[in-house]
Parts: sequence; structure tokens; C-alpha cells
Amino acid sequence: MARGNAPKNSDLKNDKKLVLNKGALAEIERGHPWIWRGSISRESIEDLRRMAAGDEAALVTQDRHVVARAIVDPDSPISARVWTMEDEPIDEKLIAARMARAIALRTRIAETDTNAYRLLHGEGDRAPGVVVDRYADVAVLRLDGDGVRARKDSITRAIEPILRELGIGTLLQRGRADETVVLFGELPKGPIAVREHGVPFVADVVRGQKTGAFLDQRENRRRVGAMAKGKSVLNLFSYAGGFSLHAATNGAKKVTSVDIAGAAHVTAQESFKAAGVDPRAHDFVTADAFAFLENAKRQGKSWDLIVSDPPSFAPNEKSKERALAAYRSLHKACAAVLAPGGTFCAASCSSHVDARAFLTTLDDAALGRHDLRLVALYGPPEDHPTLAAFPEGQYLKFAELA
Ligand code: SAH
Repeated sequence: MARGNAPKNSDLKNDKKLVLNKGALAEIERGHPWIWRGSISRESIEDLRRMAAGDEAALVTQDRHVVARAIVDPDSPISARVWTMEDEPIDEKLIAARMARAIALRTRIAETDTNAYRLLHGEGDRAPGVVVDRYADVAVLRLDGDGVRARKDSITRAIEPILRELGIGTLLQRGRADETVVLFGELPKGPIAVREHGVPFVADVVRGQKTGAFLDQRENRRRVGAMAKGKSVLNLFSYAGGFSLHAATNGAKKVTSVDIAGAAHVTAQESFKAAGVDPRAHDFVTADAFAFLENAKRQGKSWDLIVSDPPSFAPNEKSKERALAAYRSLHKACAAVLAPGGTFCAASCSSHVDARAFLTTLDDAALGRHDLRLVALYGPPEDHPTLAAFPEGQYLKFAELA
């Protein structure tokens, strides 16, 4: 994707074109992959209306110079997503090249005792809207937007040989309503046994959230494991118990997992057993985390290590203030049950709450105490690359306070 190679005029035949305003073109040059409907010139909006989801369009300046090529999604506010700055078609060859380059970036992970990780991270791997996660020999595809959804068959054809080469015999697609479709191979009979830094766990790729697990927290789970020995641990919003499992296998005294969804605890307990830990030695509480914390405070309970990893509180920019208030009250409630000398790990996966805003929910006033220090602020691991010019992709924050 070398700069300066962009041609002056497209050589591609029958080219559909969208004229963009200058500001949007500058953002594309910086590497932002999304074209908002409002960035498309009025004359081109008519052209866009005649296009179908999945069509390819050249993004051009007022004087028709081609800057980039994109897949369009005419009915979405994100009307097009950039795949390339070169004068090349967005075809199976290009999709296969993106997949191969993404896999090369995961070589180091593949060499560790980890076989659940993200193989292709959409925008971050310059394959906008296309996510592929690996769980041992099963891969799960998620397609974001009608543009790439319209190209499901060609995407599958492009990546199948590459996945098979990795020893992956099954590709599933998880849809918007969380339905599961088999793209090749066979539907797994039950949860899949995988390993994360040597810790065995099970992932329900057919019914679980996202593609079965929150793979973006892998390194943070390992970090929590490394701090857990001999400690009482509270894992809030525990889902399938990832943080709990790393704490328990690393010698935590007792782990309390809290999630509002009782079914998640069933998967968590299966993972505990797979890892050789007796789940009966630990607590699994089905409750609202806020109510749980209030009760715990009233009863004078405290923990040495607390992890809080809630779902996104800010689905859009408008809800940001409300989300910040929710983080503040959650963090204050956590600080109130953190034992003296304890460690508090607070995560946020809201892209509308950036790192600086998130830290305002963890300052002394927010926590109601003056003894904690910010030890580190982590993000996602290398299988979740981001683009410098794409803040929407920089969603995960993980703060360690002690
Ligand atoms: N920490 C997990 C991922 C958490 S996902 C991991 O590493 O895998 C967020 C979880 O929060 C979901 O399982 C959801 O059921 C749960 N949840 C949502 N609202 C909640 C609430 N008010 N109280 C407790 N759990 C909640």
C-alpha cells in the first residue's frame, strides 16, 4: 500500500464513481476507512442510490482523480468502506491477500500455547467489516455491514484455502441475530476446547456472545492471572469466566464471578473443570453487578483483586455522558470493596469513551479515595491491530490501579 502509487485516473472498466468532499478525502489519505453519507457530493448521492450493497466504487476528487476504492453500502450512514488506495479491483485475490497478511501478523501468537485468537480484525487489518476468529480448528466469520454481507460467498471462497492450510476444517458465520450458518465443514456438536496461554477453556461458538469469547482481553486475562496468587478475587461481568479462570489456575485463594446471565456461569464452570479446578471451591453469582456491590459494601466485604469488564455503556456519541456517569458509579462501588493494598482492574469497551475520558472515571474524586495509583493502561493485543487515523477502532481500555 505504498503512497504515491495511486493512479491519476482509474484504468478499471465500467467504474462506478463517488465524488467526495475534500475533508473526507484528507481523512482517507490519513487512513480512515469509513465514508459517511454526508461526505459524498450531492451529484454522487444519486449515483450511490443506483448502486447495490457490495458494489465496488472508485472514490474520486471533484476533478475525477481516483484516491481509493471502496465497497458500498448505500442504505447505511457508513455508505462505503475503503479497501485499497491502489487502482486494483476488490476481488477474491485482494481479500485473500488481506487474509494472508493478517495471518502473518499472528505468527508469534500461533507459536505460543494459545489457539484461540483473532485471525482477521476488519478495519484494523484493512479488510473493513470482515472479522475471522479462530478456535482451534474452527473459525468463525462475522460480517459487519450489508456491503460485505452481499459478498459473503466470494469472501468464503477467497479465505477457505488459506484457513484449510492452517488446519481449520470448519468455518461458521455468526449473524446479526446471533444465528449460526455453516460456510464449510461441520457444525460443532458442543463447546470447543481451546487454550489461552496454556490455560484450557471451552468456547461456545454457536450460542456464545460475539464469536464465542472476548478474545481482545487475552493478554489482560494473563496479567490478572499473574497477580492473583493467594488473593481473593472479584470478577464483575464475568461472562464465561475468562478472568476468573486465569486467576483460579494461578493460585487465587477464592474467585467470585458475577454476571447477570446465569447461563454464562455454566460455560465458566465447564472451563474450570477442563482446567482441573474444582468450581465448587469458588463462587458464581447471578446478579446485577451494581446491586451485588451495594450488598457487599453493606455487609463489609472486601477483595484483594477486583476486575470490572462491563459491556459497552455508550452505543453512540449521544450516550457518552450517561456512560461516563455509569463508569463513575461502578468504579466508586468497586473502590468501596477493594481491600487496603488491593488491585483494581477496570476495563471499558466503549469506543465513544476514549482513554482520557475513561481515566476521569478512575481519578481520586471518582473513586472516593486517595491511595490508588495508575500502574498501567493497556489496550488489545496484536491480533486486534488498529489504525492511527481510526479512533472508532480503538475501543478497548484496561486500567490497572494499585
Ligand atoms: N470479562 C468477560 C467479558 C464480559 S462481557 C471476558 O473476559 O470474557 C459483559 C458481560 O456482562 C456479559 O456476560 C453480560 O451478561 C454481563 N452483564 C451485562 N450487564 C450486567 C449487569 N448489570 N450486571 C452483571 N453482569 C452484566
